[in-house]
Amino acid sequence: MEQVAPQGDARRAIPRTDVLLALPAVEAARTRLAEHVIVGVIRDVTARARRGELAAAAVAEVVTAALDAAVLSAQTPVLNATGVVVHTNLGRAPLSEAAVDAVVQAAGYVDVELDLASGTRSRRGIGARAALLAACPAAEDALAVNNGAAALVLATTALAAGREVIVSRGELVEIGAGFRLPDLIASTGARLREVGTTNRTHLADYADVIGPDTGCLLKVHPSNFRVEGFTSAVGVRELSSLAADRDLPLVVDLGSGLLAPDPILPDEPDAATALGHGADLVTASGDKLLGGPQAGLLLGRADLVTRLSKHPLARAVRMDKLALAALEATLAGPTAPVARYLHADPDRLRARTEALAAAVGGAVIEHDGRVGGGGAPGVPLRGFAVRLPEAVARPLRTGSPAVLPRLHDGAALLDLRCVPESADAALTAAVVAAMHGI
Ligand SMILES: *Cc1c(COP(=O)(O)O)cnc(C)c1O
Repeated sequence: MEQVAPQGDARRAIPRTDVLLALPAVEAARTRLAEHVIVGVIRDVTARARRGELAAAAVAEVVTAALDAAVLSAQTPVLNATGVVVHTNLGRAPLSEAAVDAVVQAAGYVDVELDLASGTRSRRGIGARAALLAACPAAEDALAVNNGAAALVLATTALAAGREVIVSRGELVEIGAGFRLPDLIASTGARLREVGTTNRTHLADYADVIGPDTGCLLKVHPSNFRVEGFTSAVGVRELSSLAADRDLPLVVDLGSGLLAPDPILPDEPDAATALGHGADLVTASGDKLLGGPQAGLLLGRADLVTRLSKHPLARAVRMDKLALAALEATLAGPTAPVARYLHADPDRLRARTEALAAAVGGAVIEHDGRVGGGGAPGVPLRGFAVRLPEAVARPLRTGSPAVLPRLHDGAALLDLRCVPESADAALTAAVVAAMHGI
């Protein structure tokens, strides 16, 4: 409601909403913004004028500027200068160009559940399934769902609801943000049967508790921590022969999503090896080391994958067409950014870092990047960083483009490992601007 201002009040000069809505700049903004957003901007600006914070004559101009600055998404692109490859707070894996193109292509109507040749309905996700099987031939069949947690929930629900899931106490991990694997499994209606101790679990511990109530054996990769010292865990090979003897499925939660071994991450489990060692089903995330969109991958025995895909819960955790397209393109396209950043050439990193330091006036130091995303916690990724005063961090984060440095030892460190080389010039300009501001 617009209030009627008293006679002679400067507020009478404030343009009315309908007048502002007819401005050419507002007309132009309609191609970009929803009407309620435009009206909201106009109301905000006129309210400021009524409070005397703004001259009436400036209202039209301020409305125009505010509409120009209005953003459609609260998610701001960030240049990741932390050296952490799979950065959870930055949305984990950045998509490859091929995946981005595929997302754009899938944005309109698309034959996600239609066979164009026959004109009849087809199975959702057949492209992603084929791409997964091509990338991981050790799997008989594959299914992709919303995320890694959903893959695990679907597996334990379909294989062990109302029954027991046997898992080692050394593998009952918290995935992040207070989200605990045991709670997740308990929420499926399966009962967790914990065996062994935090540091040592033996094959006999599993064998002793297998009974008529056992639904499946579960092995979880404790991805975000390491137990050192007097430790022992049962490998997939041993566990799978026990599971086979007792006619039970062995599910292995790999977490990180490597489909094949990566020599620079020797302790990171991968799907091909786990399946080769007899796992019946493996689960993994799509947006960690695989470098794709948020997804949960289920790979393994054809009868189990069929059982899971027919379970009613599968519908509740199904992937959307955009993520399916991105997953397929990540698998079939050129090496995704995550793998490129993990394997970044140190000489090239050093040259880029020296160029940045020369332009902004900081010191080059040796700096270890990290895998991140809960993966390979102890593995340093040898590289370099430019060291700047810590005070530059805030202007960097709030600048354009936003740049996230690593804060360490009272300094802001800029590690170029996860910055696309094509963004070096923009990053340099952002750092120069931020340094001026401190
Ligand atoms: C990350 C992770 C999960 C969860 O996967 P999301 O894709 O985040 O849902 C489950 N298990 C392990 C071992 C993980 O590392």
